[in-house]
Amino acid sequence: MLNKLTIKQAHQGLIDKKFSSLELTEDCLSEIKKRNKKINAFISIDSDLALEKAKEADKKIGQGVEIGVLEGIPLAIKDNILIEGIKTTAGSKILENYIAPYDATVIKKLKNAGAIFLGKTNMDEFAMGSSTENSYFGPTKNPRDLERVPGGSSGGSAAAVAANFCLGALGSDTGGSIRQPASFCGIVGFKPTYGCVSRYGLMAMASSLDQIGPLTKNVEDAEILFHEIKGRDGKDSTSIELNSKLEIKNKFKVQGIKIGIPKEYFIKGMDKEVEETLKKAIKKFENLGAKIEKVSLPHTDYALACYYIIMPSEVSSNLARYDGIKYGYSAKEKIKDLLDVYLRSREKGFGDEARRRIMLGTYSLSSGYYEAYYLQAQKIRALIKKDFVQVFNKVDCLIAPTSPTIAFKIGEKIDDPLKMYLSDIFTISANLAGLPAISLPCGLVNNLPAGLQIIGNQFEDEKVLAIADIYERSE
Ligand code: GLN
Repeated sequence: MLNKLTIKQAHQGLIDKKFSSLELTEDCLSEIKKRNKKINAFISIDSDLALEKAKEADKKIGQGVEIGVLEGIPLAIKDNILIEGIKTTAGSKILENYIAPYDATVIKKLKNAGAIFLGKTNMDEFAMGSSTENSYFGPTKNPRDLERVPGGSSGGSAAAVAANFCLGALGSDTGGSIRQPASFCGIVGFKPTYGCVSRYGLMAMASSLDQIGPLTKNVEDAEILFHEIKGRDGKDSTSIELNSKLEIKNKFKVQGIKIGIPKEYFIKGMDKEVEETLKKAIKKFENLGAKIEKVSLPHTDYALACYYIIMPSEVSSNLARYDGIKYGYSAKEKIKDLLDVYLRSREKGFGDEARRRIMLGTYSLSSGYYEAYYLQAQKIRALIKKDFVQVFNKVDCLIAPTSPTIAFKIGEKIDDPLKMYLSDIFTISANLAGLPAISLPCGLVNNLPAGLQIIGNQFEDEKVLAIADIYERSE
């Protein structure tokens, strides 16, 4: 049952010598053994390595070495983040047998902190999707209801945390892939400000939008993981040092802060009951002393269209490297020449959604269409950013739903890409503008979790976490 603990609780237990890291890790592994076949949260599991690392942590503790908060803590990692020597597939057939040659920066940091990796989690192929149904390794099921999706694309990580297979996990968020699955699985998911966490060693989907972040059981744990992985990295030129002001948290009060409610986020098509849970959350903030203000982000309507031009354009360029030669799968049948190697490997190696986006992106970047699509979308992106800049002159943060619905049924949207894309309507703006945003549980609808999203100004990650923490603790 130790697997049910939060990171903070487990750390306390380890230093008080109530249990060992080995026992903690064994409890996680036995839960995985019991239920992962049904849930399919992991693509690969490395029990031996995990147990070995747990023993190392115990040895340190036994010797009286002062340990950090992640020492001996079992985590799960999305399968698009490289761990040296470990299979890393990005949920794709094209990388089915690919072994990562180096550690991503976030992994290096977590290794230095003594964290334990139980395995790699399932995901939509190359992080393209909102349900984890686009994985070559089969869909992940929502631990709360096995007939439903866990959300996506970090569905495996969210399900692993919600099922208590691990104490916390890392995911990546390009348009909502940390927050939306967190909301569907009833856990916390945090997407930091773009650049605060190094992307070195994260398989790129759309480089100007991608960001790694934590999925955890509570806000405090999200903070713990975030503080460990953040920071400027010479290997990622877009990374930046966030001046972390932990004192903010201790002194921070919700009383008197201004919270904006963007009217464009409360739209038709949103589940009525989800809206009700949101209204209750807003009321709670009011009771905590926050001032609630209606605000407007006038270009919100264009965000989805803008994202679905910019993201596939970057996808088409980033996925060009999978050519059947440099990495992974290479087609062997009916090969006459080099071009055949490229074409057949990509045809057989990529799934439908990856191929759809490569085609869309290639089209919008091609000469003659570039100005009409990609350039226009970049202009809209600037306007969306400006909306936020103006709003954050007036308020401390924004509150919105994470998703218009609760977790939907497996198969319900998979044949209708447009319907699926609409799942991201509330999350993608934060990626387009590079803002920090967190999803945390705010109630149940038909016994399934709904998510509350708090969006903050650029570099105000600490403030977003502090506001979320206060909300969570006041339940
Ligand atoms: N669901 C969105 C998409 O399909 C977002 C994916 C993500 O954040 N990786 O693009």
